Amino acid sequence: MRVVIASGKGGAGKTCVTASLAAVWNRPLVAVDTDAEAPNLHLFLPPDVTEKKTAFLDVPNMDPEKCSRCEKCRDICAYKAIASFAGKITLFPDMCHGCGGCFAVCPTGALIHGRRELGSLEIGTVLGGSARFLMGRTRIGESMTPPLLRQQLRLLSDMLEACPADALIDSPPGVSCPAVTVAREADVILLALDPTPFGFHDFRLAHQAFLPLGRPVAAVINRAGADGNAEGDEAARRYCREQRVPVLAELPFERAAAEQYAAGRLLAELSPAWRQRFERLRDALIAFGAGRAAEETNHA
Ligand code: SF4
Ligand code: SF4
Repeated sequence: MRVVIASGKGGAGKTCVTASLAAVWNRPLVAVDTDAEAPNLHLFLPPDVTEKKTAFLDVPNMDPEKCSRCEKCRDICAYKAIASFAGKITLFPDMCHGCGGCFAVCPTGALIHGRRELGSLEIGTVLGGSARFLMGRTRIGESMTPPLLRQQLRLLSDMLEACPADALIDSPPGVSCPAVTVAREADVILLALDPTPFGFHDFRLAHQAFLPLGRPVAAVINRAGADGNAEGDEAARRYCREQRVPVLAELPFERAAAEQYAAGRLLAELSPAWRQRFERLRDALIAFGAGRAAEETNHA
């Protein structure tokens, strides 16, 4: 089961939930950080990295001697990565999405395969070797994250095929292309819900954005019961009830929990009560995933 832990905004608690769930997971597991622009799962689950790969994107270079200036490459490029100025073709490799269209239409072979570094993929183990680990990290200055994430998700598939396991995937925050790229690979999406006005607003955006993917969505309410926010908590619960989004756990707002998080420690290790909360969330998540998988099989 691939569980994508996502959120409408940063700071809702998805990394915190992912890390503590990993710590109490009782089946074979790969803990995955796909928040490649700002990965931080490794701060809570320090990895023993055994392999680091550099990820590249296939982009065009040009041999001007062979170019007939037909402009077919410019016309097919949907991303404006090729322009024609005063009859001269100019490439902007930083804007290339690697679709390969220009190579396919060039009649003279003037385009040569080059590559742009996207970032790195780090593989290893966490939790004393009991779980595998996979982290994507975007190169500083790289503006496009989805191509790196697609390579990371392919690598995850290879890892799961070689050695079957569940995957807990810390998603990029928000609802932009990186988050959707990861969410579409989920068997279950677990949305971390921060019941403040901003958090609830962005949670609803995320729910609406992920609904068309057709993946089962559940929620975990983080920092529930904060002083003066009873209305926010209730609004979040009501929305989930009305939208049929099961709330699998409510994690209470506690100063000790905030201090534990700020120190880079796992909430599941704060006290027996916190550990039990995550064990119950784990069990609820596994049951939810199994139930939805059975429903899909019955409908097929
Ligand atoms: S590979 Fe695709 S995106 Fe990149 S320059 Fe060619 S047509 Fe444009
Ligand atoms: S398609 Fe090939 S030949 Fe035509 S302008 Fe582009 S690089 Fe030059």
